[in-house]
Amino acid sequence: MRSALLLVAVSLAAVLLALFAAHRARDWTLQQLHRQGAETLLERVSEMRGWLDGYDYLPFLLTQNRDVRALLLYPNQEMGVRVSRYLEQTSLVAGSTALFILDVGGRAVAFSNWRDQQDFYLRSHARRNYFLDARKGEQGRRFALAGDTGSPAFYLSAPIYDARRFVGAAVVRLNLELLQRRLGNAGLPWLLSGPEGTLIAASEPTWVGRALASLSHSEQVQRLLNGTEIRRWPEVLEGRRLAQSVELDDLGWTLTVLQDSEPAERNSRTAGLFTLGGSIAFCLLLLYLRERRLKHRSQRETQLALRRSEQRQRDIIDTAQVGLITVDSAGRMLFLNGMALKQFGLSPKLALQQPLSRLFCMSQAAGPLEAALSRLGSSGFAPLTGQEAVGRRADGSEFPLMFSIREMPGNGQRRFLVTVIDISRRKRLEQALRDARDSLEDKVEARTRELHSMQQELIQAEKLAALGRMSSAVVHELNQPLTAMRTYVAICRQLNERPDLLAGNLEQIDALVDRMALITRQLKTFAYRKPERLEPVSLGDCIDRTLALFGTRFDETGVELSVERCSGEDRVAGDSARLEQVLINLIGNALDAMTDTQGTRRLALRLTSRGEQLQLEVCDSGGGIAEDVLDKLFDPFFTTKSIGSGLGLGLAIVRSILRDLGGDIDARNRAGGGACFRLWLPAWVEVTTTNDRET
Ligand code: ADP
Repeated sequence: MRSALLLVAVSLAAVLLALFAAHRARDWTLQQLHRQGAETLLERVSEMRGWLDGYDYLPFLLTQNRDVRALLLYPNQEMGVRVSRYLEQTSLVAGSTALFILDVGGRAVAFSNWRDQQDFYLRSHARRNYFLDARKGEQGRRFALAGDTGSPAFYLSAPIYDARRFVGAAVVRLNLELLQRRLGNAGLPWLLSGPEGTLIAASEPTWVGRALASLSHSEQVQRLLNGTEIRRWPEVLEGRRLAQSVELDDLGWTLTVLQDSEPAERNSRTAGLFTLGGSIAFCLLLLYLRERRLKHRSQRETQLALRRSEQRQRDIIDTAQVGLITVDSAGRMLFLNGMALKQFGLSPKLALQQPLSRLFCMSQAAGPLEAALSRLGSSGFAPLTGQEAVGRRADGSEFPLMFSIREMPGNGQRRFLVTVIDISRRKRLEQALRDARDSLEDKVEARTRELHSMQQELIQAEKLAALGRMSSAVVHELNQPLTAMRTYVAICRQLNERPDLLAGNLEQIDALVDRMALITRQLKTFAYRKPERLEPVSLGDCIDRTLALFGTRFDETGVELSVERCSGEDRVAGDSARLEQVLINLIGNALDAMTDTQGTRRLALRLTSRGEQLQLEVCDSGGGIAEDVLDKLFDPFFTTKSIGSGLGLGLAIVRSILRDLGGDIDARNRAGGGACFRLWLPAWVEVTTTNDRET
C-alpha cells in the first residue's frame, strides 16, 4: 500500500517535472528568440539609417549648384530644362526617386522626371512640410505621401539662399519602395509604420497601406523568467508571432521585427515529452524494481511457510496418537512415527526396511491384510480402512489393533500409508460393557418378574375390591325385590281365598322376578368373554335394530330423533349382539338423562367414516354430566341414579366391549346443553382381517 502511494507520488512528480521542463524550455527558447530578434531589429535600424544617411548630402549638393540658383533668380525655360536635365542625371546616379527645385512660392521650377510628368510643374508644394522646413531655413526630413503618385515617400529638403535671401528649396524624394527593396524580405519579417499607425513599408508588400492595429490588435504581453517582456501577435500569418519594435523618434516611424514562436512551442513540447518519457521510464524502472522486490519477498515467504508447514506436519505426525507407517510397493517399512514405534516397542534401526507383515500376527489377520500387501505393487491395490487385526510387539506380546492402508498421492515411486490404532483399551471397555449388559439383563429380568407378581397381586386386590363393591351392589339390588317378593308371597298366602286379588299380586312378583333377571343378565354381559371369531357387522344395521327396540319409548317420551349415516363402508369387526348392547346402553342413558328435560327432547346419532375408523356420536339434550364425574363415568358401579334405577355397569360394559373390539369411547358435555358420547371402532378390512383370522 505504502509503495503504491509512493508510486502515485512519483508519477505525479514526473508529470509536474515534465510540465516544468516544458515551461522552462519554452521560456528559454523565447529568450533566445527575443535576443535574436533584438539583434535583427538593430541591424534593420542601422541599415535603414544608413540608407537614409546616404541621401543626406543630396539636397545640399543641389543648393550649391550655380544653375539652380540662376534659375531661381532668373527663371527661364532654357535654364529650367538644363537644370531638370542635371537633376535627372543626378537622381539617376544617386538612386533617388525624384529631385526637384521649388521657387520661393513653393512651385516646381525644375524636376528630374520632367520627361514623364509635365503636370508636376502645375502643383504647388507651398503647404508641404518639407517646403515649410526649408523656408524656415531648416533641413527637412519628412515622410509624406507623394502628391503625384500617392505612394509613401521620404522627402529631404534644403533651403537655397541668395545673399541670405530665401529664393527656393531643393527637394529629394525617396519612395519607400526603395527602402523596401533595400531591406528586402530575406530573414525575419519586418514592418515599418508611420506616425498615424499605417504601414509604409514591409517585407510583405501586400501589408503596405494596412493599419498596424489590424495586425497587432490581439497582442499578448508575457513576462519571461529573466524579466524580459515579450509581445506576441497570435493572429499574424500562420504562427504565433513574436513582435519586437523600435520607435525612431526623429522620423516618427516604428520598425517591428516578427519572429515565429513555433520553435519555442516545439522545444517546449519536445522537452516536456522527453522529461515525461524519462519520468515514465523511471517510474517503470521503479515499478519493475518494486515488482522484483515483492516477488522475492513473496518467494521467501512461500518458502518459509512451506518449511513451517513441513515442520508442523512432521510435528503432527510425530505427536499423532495413531501409529503412522509408510511402506514401499514391496511392503518394506520406510518410516514409522513415534507412536508406531511405541505401539510395537521398536527402534527405527530395527524397523526400517523390514517387511510390514512382521508387525502383525499373520495367522489372525491373514485375509484382507495379506491380500492388500500382496497387491501393493500392482494396479489391483484397493485401500483398506478400519480393519481389525492383532499386532505383535518386539518382545513377542500381542495386542489388538485397527489398521488402514491407502496409497499416498505423489508422482514418483508408489508409497503407502499404514495407520495403526491400538484398540486394547476399546476391547477391554467392550468386554466390560458386555459384562455390564449381561448383568443388567439379569437384573431387568428379575425386576420384571418382581413387577409382574406385584401387578398380579394388585390386580387380584383390585378384583377383590371390585367384587366386594359389586357384591354389595348386587346384594342391595337383589335384596330389595326379594324382600318385596317375600312380602307379596305372604300376602298371597293370605289372599288364597281371594283369587281376584291374587292375580294382581302374582303380577307384581312376576315384575320383580323380571327385574332380578335384568340384573343378572347385565352381570352376565359384563362377564361375557371376547368371542373367538369376529364378523363384519354393519353399524348402520345395528343402529336400525336398536332404534326399533326403543320405538315405543320414543313415542311415550316425545323424543325428536335424528340419525345421520355414513355414505360408504359402515362395517366393523365385531358381533352384532354386543354392538347392539353398546347402543342400547348409550341410548337408554340418553333417554334417562332427558326424563326431566323441559321443552324439546332431542336425540342425535351421527355415524361418520374417518379413514380406517368409523365414529359414532350419540348426543342428547338432557342435563349433561357434572364436570367432576366426567372421568369416573366409565368406572364399574359408578352411577348417579337412585338405588334400584341404575347399577352403574352400563358404561363400564360399553367401554369393555369397545376396547375388546379395538375401539374406545369418550364423553363430553355439549356447548348447547346435554351430553355427547363418541365411540370409534376400526373399519372392517377384508384382506387384513381375513389374514389375521387365519393366523
Ligand atoms: P347406570 O345407568 O346404571 O347409572 P351407567 O354406567 O350406564 O350406569 O351410567 C353411569 C352414569 O353415567 C349414570 O348414572 C349417569 O349419571 C351418567 N350418564 C350416563 N349417560 C348419561 C347421559 N346421556 N346424560 C347424563 N348422564 C349420563
